[in-house]
Amino acid sequence: MTQKAWLGLGGNIGDVRAALAVALRNLSAHQAIKVTGVSPLYKTPPWGVEDQPWFFNCCAEVVTKLAPEDLLFACQEQERLGKRERIQRWGPRTIDIDILVYESLEQFDPGLTLPHPRMLERAFVLVPLADIAPKLQIHNRTTKKWARESDQKGLEVVDTTNDWWRNTDAA
Ligand code: ADP
Ligand code: MG
Repeated sequence: MTQKAWLGLGGNIGDVRAALAVALRNLSAHQAIKVTGVSPLYKTPPWGVEDQPWFFNCCAEVVTKLAPEDLLFACQEQERLGKRERIQRWGPRTIDIDILVYESLEQFDPGLTLPHPRMLERAFVLVPLADIAPKLQIHNRTTKKWARESDQKGLEVVDTTNDWWRNTDAA
């Protein structure tokens, strides 16, 4: 059985655009994951800890045979490959990959909460997610509506194309 899921990716150290592109290409090369859509690339002001570089963010839609925990493991493998260092919560990181939504699943496991508990406060997640899945419902509201009501201050589109991550020149 395959399921749809939506991922949120971001980072703010080094060549983030390249790191995100590599992570997306690696995920799509996984035998049990197909990347079926990627949002434009955004640049966003730091959130939480404000004294750090701007972030790059995007969202991706995947179709997968993996259970949510195994999908998270595959995402964390890409974080490790991208040499993410967990020094400070919400602090600088080369790459962060979260599962935002796993189709029709709600769960409150501390190791994996779905939908992602903090996504509804974050325009840098909601706006790219609404680009690729405007009708997706989260707690009985579409992502489009959540995005419209989020604080989009400082959010900039860096690349409007949906295949920026396939471009090897950028990586
Ligand atoms: P954040 O993503 O909030 O910046 P981290 O990436 O350091 O923070 O995540 C900390 C932990 O959150 C992960 O080790 C993971 O087990 C847990 N977690 C809970 N729900 C999710 C989710 N939906 N997606 C990704 N990680 C999650
Ligand atoms: Mg994370």
